[in-house]
Amino acid sequence: MKGTLFIISSPSGGGKGTLIREARKGISNLSYSVSYTTREIREGEAQGKNYFFVSVDEFKSLIDKDEFLEYAEVHGNFYGTSKSQVEKEIDAGNDIILEIDVQGAEIVRSKVKGSVNIFILPPSYDVLKSRLLNRKTESASDLKIRLSNAVKEVSEYKKFDFVIVNDDKEIAADELKTVFRGERLRTDRQETRIRDILNSFENAIED
Ligand code: 5GP
Repeated sequence: MKGTLFIISSPSGGGKGTLIREARKGISNLSYSVSYTTREIREGEAQGKNYFFVSVDEFKSLIDKDEFLEYAEVHGNFYGTSKSQVEKEIDAGNDIILEIDVQGAEIVRSKVKGSVNIFILPPSYDVLKSRLLNRKTESASDLKIRLSNAVKEVSEYKKFDFVIVNDDKEIAADELKTVFRGERLRTDRQETRIRDILNSFENAIED
């Protein structure tokens, strides 16, 4: 059985990073796709952990080598999902989370059947703005771009299977965990296990 692709999108500052970290706790075989980006590394981020930070030239050469499942220009930088990383996990039967923007989500949906799409919605525009301001990672101009893009991004919510409103962090993380767990209970995801159980019924001969 192949693993499931979980696509998670939200506007910048929507808090998906924290939610994903919390929701993954205690769930096995659920990996995280580390994207490539040309954006500058932020304080507290690490090469190969949050992203693979590369130059524009390196990114272009990865495009030429067909290394991306999808890539997009987001808020003025390039971001791309590693095809080989995703294939490796899915083929090993692991689920994998893609934390990508709405354009990337659209591309993946068109290429991969059966992905599960989750949109993280901030409780309001004002909350999103204050979260972005408080994290102090963006310049004033970058902040403006991210907020104006947020207006477009939230309008895409209907393309997603689940919407989680990130008001109370604990509740939202719990809801995300529910989606991860619920998907694993789908009949087709449990085929092998069910077949073994049913075999035990077939072999049972009662007088
Ligand atoms: P940030 O610069 O705040 O880390 O991310 C900016 C945006 O880029 C976020 O919406 C994030 O989800 C998105 N992003 C991160 N990695 C990828 C990727 O591989 N592909 C696409 N399309 N978007 C990505």
